[in-house]
Amino acid sequence: MAVLEIHNVSQTFGHGEMAVHALKPTSLSVEAGELVALLGPSGSGKSTLLLAISLIQPPTTGRIVIDGQTLYDDGPTGVDVRAFRRRKIGFIFQQHNLIPFLSAQENVALMLQLNGAGGREAARRAKELLGYLEVGHRADSLPANLSGGEQQRVAIGRALANDPTLILADEPTAALDTDRGTKVMAMLRKIARERRSAVIAV
Ligand code: ADP
Ligand code: MG
Repeated sequence: MAVLEIHNVSQTFGHGEMAVHALKPTSLSVEAGELVALLGPSGSGKSTLLLAISLIQPPTTGRIVIDGQTLYDDGPTGVDVRAFRRRKIGFIFQQHNLIPFLSAQENVALMLQLNGAGGREAARRAKELLGYLEVGHRADSLPANLSGGEQQRVAIGRALANDPTLILADEPTAALDTDRGTKVMAMLRKIARERRSAVIAV
């Protein structure tokens, strides 16, 4: 079964003469263990699609099914999207968006605690994840004291914290040089393969 299935998802901002058709009706499906790359020029609707899939910015039309749950079908379906998103979807942004006054480990642990993990368990799992992402030695550093590549790997750790079935990454390498960008992409491929997540990366 596909982790993600979307059917005729479109996005129009505004109305009438002011309408911006940001995304034409789009259908796709992504399986567990699969990484799909979304390519296209600036302004072609890539971010709009990820924001629609995660229902951070619900689409104008379309159906969105994640893990067999229909979250949207030309409108809300009554599923508690915020709770669902917190458990099932990991989002990685172009900028890391880490909380500046929390350490790398605390940034990751916070996501676990939001889903009900106790403090000690959250700290343990955060440390383990940072190790997996090869930034375990930086666990106690503040984001400002990390390199761009390290910051982005901590942000990936945060996205992975609750073992999401779907990971959405919007230009996760945009702020990195080629070498570090390649490493982050390799990390996402490894995550898809080893953890059986479905990954969409712009
Ligand atoms: P990409 O990520 O591929 O660069 P976007 O998805 O950000 O493209 O944008 C697609 C189009 O939608 C662009 O023309 C952009 O200006 C427009 N757009 C995006 N968000 C909004 C919004 N909230 N209101 C109006 N127009 C928007
Ligand atoms: Mg974009």
